[in-house]
Amino acid sequence: MKDWKKTVVTVGVCIGLAALAYFAWLFPFYEFAVNDYETSLEKLMSAEYVRVLAPLLIILALSAAGIVLVVLVRRLLVRAGKDTPRFDRARAGRQRGAAPKRKLSLFMAVRWAAMAVFSFLMIWGGLIFGWKMSSLSIPVLSCPWNTEQMAESGCYYLSHLDELFELPGRSIVLFFGSTIFFAVLLGRVICGFLCPMGLVQDVMDGIRRKTKAEGIRMNDNMYEALVPVRWCMVLIFTGLCFAGGNFCNFCPAVAVSPILAGISTSLYVSGFFMVLVLMGGFFKRRAFCTVCPLGTVLGFFHKASPFRIRKDCQACTECGACYEACPMGIKMIYTEREKNDVTCAQCIMCGECVRCCPEDNALSLTFAGKKIYTSSRKKIMSGYARPAGENADGGRRQGF
Ligand code: SF4
Ligand code: SF4
Ligand code: SF4
Repeated sequence: MKDWKKTVVTVGVCIGLAALAYFAWLFPFYEFAVNDYETSLEKLMSAEYVRVLAPLLIILALSAAGIVLVVLVRRLLVRAGKDTPRFDRARAGRQRGAAPKRKLSLFMAVRWAAMAVFSFLMIWGGLIFGWKMSSLSIPVLSCPWNTEQMAESGCYYLSHLDELFELPGRSIVLFFGSTIFFAVLLGRVICGFLCPMGLVQDVMDGIRRKTKAEGIRMNDNMYEALVPVRWCMVLIFTGLCFAGGNFCNFCPAVAVSPILAGISTSLYVSGFFMVLVLMGGFFKRRAFCTVCPLGTVLGFFHKASPFRIRKDCQACTECGACYEACPMGIKMIYTEREKNDVTCAQCIMCGECVRCCPEDNALSLTFAGKKIYTSSRKKIMSGYARPAGENADGGRRQGF
């Protein structure tokens, strides 16, 4: 597509998003509603909870139906010879199905455990343990409509700045103090290790891999086209409240976190966006993160974070495995030939590039200069090792 056409399309998408956000209140189904703020452990154990879960079950059913539909359409296209290069293919030189089996590294196990534990605490922490640090703001895209979550989710006041400045001075200082503290200390480690929406998307990606459905590979042009959309989302996220709107009305997280905590939530537009997030996360890893406004805001602080991705350009053989593995499509990690620090604002610190790099110490994830996860040829090659007793054709060795 020519450059001017790309600009017209992206500007059109941005205007469409802004118009949707501003005028959607005209539709009666749009307004977000929480019917019941009260939850209890008894409620979570009762049949009443199943009724509360109904909107989420509908969202899951719609997402599953949408995914199946896309897979079927994709198969029809392939049969008709209209396959498109946007769908993920096996890497050049590697036959489909022959990808190495990789053990879960300690780093990845810690990452998954951190996401699961933190999401659990954010959703049920207040209810189960009574931990409600409501003046402490952790900038993750969980949902403050869930009154049982462990700490204040920074996203509410960032998207309701008009309300923030009506709070007592002490609360404002605490909000900005804790938000900035966590954002600077952790940067986008929050995205890779803590955010419940990140976990949801990673789970969808895991389901796709298990079902062996083909994903969608975004090319550089597509990532570029998303840049203005991302900034438009930030503007809507932080500025909509000043125009009389409410970002929560279409935030996908609203459709999940309060419901799981037993708070009755109606299935409105946020549910529709959650369906898109689940479908997007299934076909493209961390699809929502590529336009998430909170992630973009965290990116501002990421430059000051002690967590970095470092590259030894001498050890790099320019194989491109890191770029291919990156869910955020960060090319610089592969193309950089001089700088040691290859951290960028879009990096969610997931460590996938380090995991997939086949050269010893070419890529490392560091904290305050100390390596906490490094690339290793041995770990990569161990994935290709044949199980004992298996021959080169995959059959069993015959005894003599
Ligand atoms: S980009 Fe947004 S949704 Fe994704 S992990 Fe970060 S805060 Fe969560
Ligand atoms: S650059 Fe590496 S750590 Fe950052 S998002 Fe991409 S794969 Fe994850
Ligand atoms: S995967 Fe490692 S060796 Fe390959 S291009 Fe990236 S940094 Fe270089």
